[in-house]
Amino acid sequence: MADVEFDEVWKQFASQTAAAVKGLSLAIPDHELLVLLGPSGCGKTTALRMLAGLEEPDSGDIRIGAKSVVGLEPKDRDVALVFQSYALYPHLSAHDNIGYPLKVRKLSKADQEAKVQRVAKMLGIGHLLPRRPGQLSGGEQQRVALARAIVREPRVFLMDEPLSNLDAKLRVHTRTELKTLQRELGTTMVFVTHDQAEAMSLANRIAVLNAGELQQIGTPDEVYNDPANLFVAEFIGSPPMNLLEATRDGDSVVTAGGWRIPAPRERAVAGSGTVAAPAGSGGAVTVGLRPEGIAVVQPVQDAQDGVQPAAVVAVEPLGSEVIVDVQVGGQSLKIRAAPDVRPESGSMIGLRADPTAVRLFDRATGLAIH
Ligand code: ATP
Repeated sequence: MADVEFDEVWKQFASQTAAAVKGLSLAIPDHELLVLLGPSGCGKTTALRMLAGLEEPDSGDIRIGAKSVVGLEPKDRDVALVFQSYALYPHLSAHDNIGYPLKVRKLSKADQEAKVQRVAKMLGIGHLLPRRPGQLSGGEQQRVALARAIVREPRVFLMDEPLSNLDAKLRVHTRTELKTLQRELGTTMVFVTHDQAEAMSLANRIAVLNAGELQQIGTPDEVYNDPANLFVAEFIGSPPMNLLEATRDGDSVVTAGGWRIPAPRERAVAGSGTVAAPAGSGGAVTVGLRPEGIAVVQPVQDAQDGVQPAAVVAVEPLGSEVIVDVQVGGQSLKIRAAPDVRPESGSMIGLRADPTAVRLFDRATGLAIH
């Protein structure tokens, strides 16, 4: 178990014009489950591979347990990597796949057996031990791969989209198990995914990357409630945060279509790692409102204070909630409403913004105004 640090790490592949990882600095304390989250090609796998020793950085330092690992062979870093593809030995049984790292370390047969049995029990795969990978489902193979990583008792677990090959239900189930397992073992884990829902449900903290650059690091609540910039605001959440062009007017902001919304008071944004944004040059700002930060008011009455009339474009019933798509001043918004809210498409409804849910971004820089 150990702390992990990336210190101003840069990596450029010779065949690429832009660097894959740009000055990444990240401190991951012992026992933490940190998720590296970002779209395809943002550099998260490259960052993980540098930590594993499968790539070397061009500059900067990577430390595990306060000691630099740059230049060390992967086997000397005491980390265990689990990939999307399970990479099991096809000719070995699940038992022997799990025990393989212990055999390489020349543990006594009795110790090997005890450890394999203990991990198999932990993951509920004792009955699968005699089978070969070809006789196991994808989910079972991934458990065997996880068991093989756990049995090594590494200082750090590195997970590169390990759940991507599982069907939706098994994926949700396995991620809950993985989270519980990590907490029980207390081993630091760095988990790479492009799936924001997976990141939100698993992470102690999420590091959001885009185009090789760290955008924000914070708890799931922090990145959801206080995105540091427009990229994070749009990447996290489903549906994502509604973003509306607006101008400042005293203590309010006014969107296209004339929706007057109270401007938020000054507040801190966690872990943005960016300089504080200026207060919206020339009054041009982007207002951010999560779909659940807007209440539907029916019927709409023009005279109602703070209620904005909006045209309903579509209604998406999802069982536990309804997503209402509306238009305000030519801009589209999605609202998360209670399951019994069913306005007619084409009708007018009223919208009321929750003043505590309003976020502002500088339109020129995209940074949160705080
Ligand atoms: P994905 O989710 O698709 O795996 P990612 O965020 O993990 O994406 P990386 O795999 O780290 O992204 O890739 C970052 C950038 O570096 C991409 O532009 C990619 O094409 C490039 N890249 C990655 N590996 C190599 C390589 N071995 N040689 C050249 N370019 C590479």
